[in-house]
Amino acid sequence: MTVDLIVLGSGEAAQSVAYPCAEAGWSVTVVDSDPFGGTCSLRGCDPKKVLVGVSELVDWTRRMEGKGISSSVPTLVWPDMIRFKHTFVDGVPASNEESFTEAGIRAIQGRAHFVGLASLRVGDETLVGRNVVIAAGARHAPLGIPGEEYLTTSTEFLDLKQLPRRVVFVGAPQCRSSTAATGRWSDSTPISSLNSSRPHVISASMYACARPSPRSRSAATN
Ligand SMILES: Cc1cc2nc3c(=O)[nH]c(=O)nc-3n(C[C@H](O)[C@H](O)[C@H](O)COP(=O)(O)OP(=O)(O)OC[C@H]3O[C@@H](n4cnc5c(N)ncnc54)[C@H](O)[C@@H]3O)c2cc1C
Repeated sequence: MTVDLIVLGSGEAAQSVAYPCAEAGWSVTVVDSDPFGGTCSLRGCDPKKVLVGVSELVDWTRRMEGKGISSSVPTLVWPDMIRFKHTFVDGVPASNEESFTEAGIRAIQGRAHFVGLASLRVGDETLVGRNVVIAAGARHAPLGIPGEEYLTTSTEFLDLKQLPRRVVFVGAPQCRSSTAATGRWSDSTPISSLNSSRPHVISASMYACARPSPRSRSAATN
């Protein structure tokens, strides 16, 4: 089946192309191997901001104790934070699928690979697009450093059942900002001591590695 546009991915980049094209009357198919919605809303910006927000509140309260705040210092309850995160992340894939359908966009769940210049194979189906946009995001990259076997990705970190007592942060600012506040109540270890202290968790977001800009990632074929 040939469509005007195939979009590989369903995150921010994919949606910024898929919706306007559908509105313009193009036939659009979106393919994602993960639940619909992409990194930002499911395992990036949005869940991170919740954790940061809560931990900043505790941090501010602690730092202002005796300077105008006198009530007992609140403590963070990690499992509650993760549960809270799930309340607004879990519905995202279904609501994205619904929005795609409402916009007349066909959304396919599955891993796509190119079988031709503008042809993609997803499961048993071959899709042919007059235009193909690759909005496939980025994935965690291996670092090739000693101790790598202890790495946890930012995706896994944002779903930990319990917060480890000690945490080492490695990686890009997105992950650090999602977890740096954690260090305010955990025994956090700077990366420089990686060799001398065995970390319980190394939270590593390596999305920055070899990550092209959204513009250069979009490849249109005609
Ligand atoms: C922890 C964390 C916090 C972040 N915080 C922020 C923030 O505060 N502010 C900010 O601006 N950015 C933030 N980012 C970055 C932001 O999330 C990403 O830049 C953005 O989500 C990328 O969007 P995208 O549409 O390019 O890719 P993605 O949203 O990653 O979507 C790509 C999709 O393509 C799918 N895919 C890949 N290959 C295939 C294939 N072959 N077949 C089918 N599907 C495929 C993937 O499964 C994925 O769902 C954060 C990232 C992380 C990890």
